[in-house]
Amino acid sequence: MGDTTRHHPSTLVIHAGQHADPHTGAVSVPIYQTSTFAFRSADEGAARFLGADPGFIYTRLGNPTIQALETAIAELEGGAGALAAATGMAAVQTVYFALLEQGAHVVATDAVYGPSRLVLETEYRRFGVSATFVDSSDAANVARAMRPETRLVYVESPANPTMAVTDLAACAKIAHDHGALLCVDNTFASPLLQRPLDLGADVVLHSLTKFINGHSDVVGGVVTARDPELLTRLRKVHRNLGGTMDPHQAWLVLRGLKSLALRVERAQANAQRIAAFLEADPRVAWVRYPGLASHPQHELASRQMAGPGAVISFGVRGGFAAAKTMIESCRLATLAVSLGGIETLIEHPASMTHSALPRAEREAAGITDDLVRIAVGCEDERDLLADVDQALARAAAIAAP
Ligand SMILES: *Cc1c(COP(=O)(O)O)cnc(C)c1O
Repeated sequence: MGDTTRHHPSTLVIHAGQHADPHTGAVSVPIYQTSTFAFRSADEGAARFLGADPGFIYTRLGNPTIQALETAIAELEGGAGALAAATGMAAVQTVYFALLEQGAHVVATDAVYGPSRLVLETEYRRFGVSATFVDSSDAANVARAMRPETRLVYVESPANPTMAVTDLAACAKIAHDHGALLCVDNTFASPLLQRPLDLGADVVLHSLTKFINGHSDVVGGVVTARDPELLTRLRKVHRNLGGTMDPHQAWLVLRGLKSLALRVERAQANAQRIAAFLEADPRVAWVRYPGLASHPQHELASRQMAGPGAVISFGVRGGFAAAKTMIESCRLATLAVSLGGIETLIEHPASMTHSALPRAEREAAGITDDLVRIAVGCEDERDLLADVDQALARAAAIAAP
């Protein structure tokens, strides 16, 4: 069991939490596919329940395969520990439920992941929780929305699908000055490109479904925090609400995680080329990618992130009809929601991922009808550029017949 905490992120993704099995020497962390763990004696069982013996009890409460994944994510994010969840939304749910009570108020990024917003506006409202959604890329909007009963500032950066970047250190200060906590959904960046806990965030969560697993073959989520007491609070709620992970799922994510650094490096290089291509193309109305100098928070992104990531939003000239033709004409990029996979995915947020939001809210959050989101994968950049080029040609033919 080497101490991996001093290693670099691209080493940690391969080694953190992942040690040869103590019983067999298996190099790949075994899938401990069991619901429960036998005690050698009644005293041992009692000691485990007391916490005096760190052994396992029951898989919802802890499991070696799941623990390996949790250790890896905690080390990558700089957290005191982590909680693996059945889905990204189960991770969001653990955070909301642990940190909010009746009468509490949340300030959140307006363009957060659709269900993260909807669950506050519908389900949590039933329990007397209120929320204000603001364009958090201007931290002054967050400061203005704070109230005495604000318990949580909930930020996604870069945000989906506008790619707006929020100043995490500024938001941490605003939250703490008001006695609130800052939670960052770090899904779009991955821990390799952004470490919110280092910037003052209290809680970080991910949809593991995206970059961290990276192969579009499993869903999952994770929550991490730096303060052990806060982590204990989150863990208690997480285990009792039951949105925990399955050992087989954890093993799949561990397997995907090992190549995270290689995948992010390649996908990001591809995205930078595609963004530059789109920006120079007259068939494209606008491009938003943190790696372009034209991005409104380009300077902040360069300071706060180790790289701009691999998701690009752009407007197809000709509006909805042209955007629809463009995404349907791609032959290599797959028409599908999700992102962070090894394969390139393309979608239309206004009619797909964000269609549940009323039009006025959608447009206020920058999700216009011409907006196409491309989540760039690891294919050869020449093939991707050719695909985007031919799809834009078809869209242009529709826009100006
Ligand atoms: C996908 C996603 C989620 C939800 O994750 P699931 O695994 O689909 O439940 C949350 N936040 C962001 C930013 C996402 O992209």
